Amino acid sequence: MTHEPLRSIAIIGGGTAGWMTAAALARVLGRPDLTITLVESEEIGTVGVGEATIPPLLAFNSLLGIDEDEFIRATGATFKLGIEFVDWLHHGHRYFHPFGNYGVDFGPIPFDGLWHRLRQNGDNTPLEDYSICALAARQTRFDRPSGGTNTPLGHIGYAFHFDAVRYAAFLRDHAEKAGVIRKEGKVTQVQQDGETGFIASVQLASGEQIAADLFIDCSGFRGLLIDQTLEAGFEDWGHWLPNDRAVAVACERSGPLTPYTRSTAREAGWQWRIPLQHRVGNGYVYAGAHLSDEAAEEALTTSLEGPMLGTPRLLRFRAGRRKSFWAKNCIALGLASGFLEPLESTSIHLVQAGIARLLEMVPTRAFEPADIRRYNRLMTAEFASIRDFLILHFHATQRADTPYWDHLRSMPIPDSLAERIAIYRATGRVFREADELFSKTSWLAVMHGQGLQAAGYDPLADGMPLAEAQARLQRVAQVTAAAARQMPDHADFLRRRCGVSDPAFLNTVLTS
Ligand SMILES: Cc1cc2nc3c(=O)[nH]c(=O)nc-3n(C[C@H](O)[C@H](O)[C@H](O)COP(=O)(O)OP(=O)(O)OC[C@H]3O[C@@H](n4cnc5c(N)ncnc54)[C@H](O)[C@@H]3O)c2cc1C
Repeated sequence: MTHEPLRSIAIIGGGTAGWMTAAALARVLGRPDLTITLVESEEIGTVGVGEATIPPLLAFNSLLGIDEDEFIRATGATFKLGIEFVDWLHHGHRYFHPFGNYGVDFGPIPFDGLWHRLRQNGDNTPLEDYSICALAARQTRFDRPSGGTNTPLGHIGYAFHFDAVRYAAFLRDHAEKAGVIRKEGKVTQVQQDGETGFIASVQLASGEQIAADLFIDCSGFRGLLIDQTLEAGFEDWGHWLPNDRAVAVACERSGPLTPYTRSTAREAGWQWRIPLQHRVGNGYVYAGAHLSDEAAEEALTTSLEGPMLGTPRLLRFRAGRRKSFWAKNCIALGLASGFLEPLESTSIHLVQAGIARLLEMVPTRAFEPADIRRYNRLMTAEFASIRDFLILHFHATQRADTPYWDHLRSMPIPDSLAERIAIYRATGRVFREADELFSKTSWLAVMHGQGLQAAGYDPLADGMPLAEAQARLQRVAQVTAAAARQMPDHADFLRRRCGVSDPAFLNTVLTS
């Protein structure tokens, strides 16, 4: 093995993961002596769902030099300020998990500590009143952050909903312009080096051979290289996250263009609602052990807000991760690396996180084993913390109306999550461990939203007299409400500020 730089990279798969990887690698590593080839098969197709994202995607788009307004027009995108959870704690209950933050810290005194302290002294101001994103979402308003850190407007966090097929096409255009070579064809054989077991080349149905130094497996759930060839193994988390199917269909929108995803808890799973410019994406994610496919489809199609567009599609999956994300000279990204259900829109982020780590430790042709171990350790931690965050939604519930919810409410949970819940119950404290994805805002939104009660509060909150704390938080809520009222209407923002002129969109927003 030599320490020379890579000469060739082959990406197997042209779904969202494949084209994100191709565009990013071409942008950052592009040089004349490095060939990047992407193989995709129209016959196999892509999973074609995956339409809600989280704020880190902005950094990815910026890495690629993407103009945000152009991206919005090209992908039918809308803005997302967070997720509304309906019926998750019990029927008739709703809460909002916002991007951005809640309130402000006062020097060393954390906002959440003060909020818990006031609450325990009889103040009932909802947590959402301190979030510019939650307030704007309720009023279907949107704006990009502005004005610096002294105004709530400077703390707006946002992401997008977009058409997954259009996003892959958009990235393909970027990647091809940056020099990526696209090959259409089905991989039918994989050749390994007899001595090292490294992947030497893949062979297409046409007989063409594609050799490379580094292979990136973006082949979807099948994990053509990482699993079928290198047998990396799979750690199954189905006992904690039993949903293993989804039925998805789009419909026409009725009502205003909301800047958030909605997740509604149902009999044996939950249903998403993702508003795009030209349609609304809907899907029912459920556990096959508790609900038949027919019943899921019926539940989905009878709850749509407008006429159905196309026919419902059934998708099957299992929750878990590859035991190794990087094995030998192959790195798995996207669905090939594992899957956590789309409740918090984390899959596309995991692709991005994998790309970012790969770029931090681009291998030479020697493939340093310590790099591989580090990559696997970091991605394992990333998957596990997202897993815990997802389990929290299902486990901390009062729902007792079906065997599905009974099971989730009473099942044993990972120790790491049990510890976080115990800390919250005792002190109201939430924390972001190492550089995990979800922030304090997210943990607090869901811990509180799912009905967990804090018995105490952070002692740091005693650093201010109670009356002063009340006055300060009241002022924060007033300023946040005033700032939210200044924000433009979401549909207007898309039209006027992003130049969206799609007739299907204009028709729906002008008539709603
Ligand atoms: C129900 C559901 C809802 C989801 N919602 C969200 C969401 O809201 N937000 C989010 O972030 N993520 C979501 N995801 C995940 C998201 O869809 C995926 O992470 C994303 O689309 C990436 O998929 P992929 O590119 O890894 O795989 P795929 O889209 O399956 O692409 C695989 C590619 O590999 C190619 N391929 C496979 N085998 C071969 C072969 N033998 N030869 C050649 N080519 C081959 C295929 O042709 C295709 O191009 C959701 C997933 C599901 C199942």
